[in-house]
Amino acid sequence: MAHSHMRVALEQGEPLSPDQLLDIPIFQDIPRSLLEKNRGAVVRRRFEKGDLICREGEYGSTAFYILQGRCQVFISSPIAHVKSRKEEGAGVGLMGLVRTFTSYLTGREEDPRREASQQTYIPIDAPIDLDYHHPVGELGPGDLFGEMTCMSFYPRSATVRAVEDCQVLEMLRNILDFLLKKSKTLKRHLDEAYRQRAMDNHLRSVPIFAGLTDAFLDHLRQRVELLRLDPGEVICRQGEAADSFYLIRLGFVKVAQQHPGGELVLAYLGRGQYFGEMGLLSGEPRTATCTALDHVEVVRISKGDFDLMMREFPDVRVHLEAEAARRAEAGERMARLGPDIPLDDFLGQGLMEAQDVLLIDLERCTRCDDCVRACADAHDGITRLIRDGLRYDKYLVATSCRSCMDPLCMIGCPVGSIRRKHSLEIIIEDWCIGCGLCARQCPYGNINMHEFGERRGEGEGVAGKKATPLKKAITCDLCTGLREPSCVYACPHQAALRVNPRRFFADQLISIRSPEATH
Ligand code: SF4
Ligand code: SF4
Repeated sequence: MAHSHMRVALEQGEPLSPDQLLDIPIFQDIPRSLLEKNRGAVVRRRFEKGDLICREGEYGSTAFYILQGRCQVFISSPIAHVKSRKEEGAGVGLMGLVRTFTSYLTGREEDPRREASQQTYIPIDAPIDLDYHHPVGELGPGDLFGEMTCMSFYPRSATVRAVEDCQVLEMLRNILDFLLKKSKTLKRHLDEAYRQRAMDNHLRSVPIFAGLTDAFLDHLRQRVELLRLDPGEVICRQGEAADSFYLIRLGFVKVAQQHPGGELVLAYLGRGQYFGEMGLLSGEPRTATCTALDHVEVVRISKGDFDLMMREFPDVRVHLEAEAARRAEAGERMARLGPDIPLDDFLGQGLMEAQDVLLIDLERCTRCDDCVRACADAHDGITRLIRDGLRYDKYLVATSCRSCMDPLCMIGCPVGSIRRKHSLEIIIEDWCIGCGLCARQCPYGNINMHEFGERRGEGEGVAGKKATPLKKAITCDLCTGLREPSCVYACPHQAALRVNPRRFFADQLISIRSPEATH
């Protein structure tokens, strides 16, 4: 799929010869032989005012570098979450009044969600972030966008439209990779653009850093180190002395701990998130290993500057310490898992990976679907639970989020709108653009894409003119605001259970092996 798109995209431009490329400053550090070998991997595209260059949510495999002209970059998906309103009395069915639900979108201001973040910017695959309330920005000559799409094949994070006649280079990954590693001109430009346009935003938009002064940010601006890492590169290792604090500029970082039973993934962190504070605050060795999952760029703040920040901004220290304690507690909670059960079926169904599953005891369940209705009622009419799935023992493992130890759904969201809270539930923020990547990544089909309308195509260019359905991702939030999950509470036959499968089935195993044992 990526290849056919790549061919279409590059077929549309004017291929540039090595001589033409070497006239462009960012290519001057690239050996001619490499450009010869990759003829056709960079094309010049001309866009007229109003043309679309790329569209959010679409897959691609190229990055764009603006030579001339200005472009607008924006998110056209509504910044809102899906809710439904009940309409009762539309008719009378066997069970009484028929209830129907109408879906609608609502925003943070009019209908705040307890679990949603108050982040004020939306991270995108460009040198700038977009404002939550007005997600529109401008790019100009020398700006590169689509780096993550090109390097890691993630969906496009935003739509880009020419606001005047533009000339843009479109390039494939082998060239971009080389440019990012070897072109001093491009690195200088990208790093400077980051220091001037995005760094303040990144630091300030992390709520605990909101109080940093302009003077301190100016102090940091030229002192921070900007690092690029290849997939699999270790950024810091469990057990090592802590010497830096990191803020993620691009890509995804896996935070994992080694335990006697294997590796436990504590989190996947994306653009705008940070790590490395725990060891610096405690003076203890690193508690986890942080590894680049894909093409990653991080801002490294040295221990000296971090300590200075802690001394000058005691409020930041208090908040960071609280956050470090929450992270440590979440890590411990995840590590407190029951004993392993050597059952192929258990492993085959991914239950070893799950921390919290919804089981339905098929000997008790009467198929009344009260659990499904309760889930819909608790979530404004949209159920996050499907009473279907794999069987294990006498249980149905229902289609509902399992809080995986390794939550693959969180890798690659182009706008960073899916995350996990400390209590392990998955949260999808209002700025989800509905690309569907998380739903495809979840191996258990536990994220649903909810359609709520259609977007009419606009403009010309790569993205073309077409109507596409508008969608938002939804998933189980474990009903964390309630004393008990709604599905479990509603079941009149105590057939629905929310359990840690390792512990739950370990108990079952013990009781099967030794009938005198009690729970
Ligand atoms: S949505 Fe899927 S991958 Fe993500 S935590 Fe839930 S079950 Fe695991
Ligand atoms: S939350 Fe899922 S559907 Fe929404 S933008 Fe992120 S990856 Fe795409």
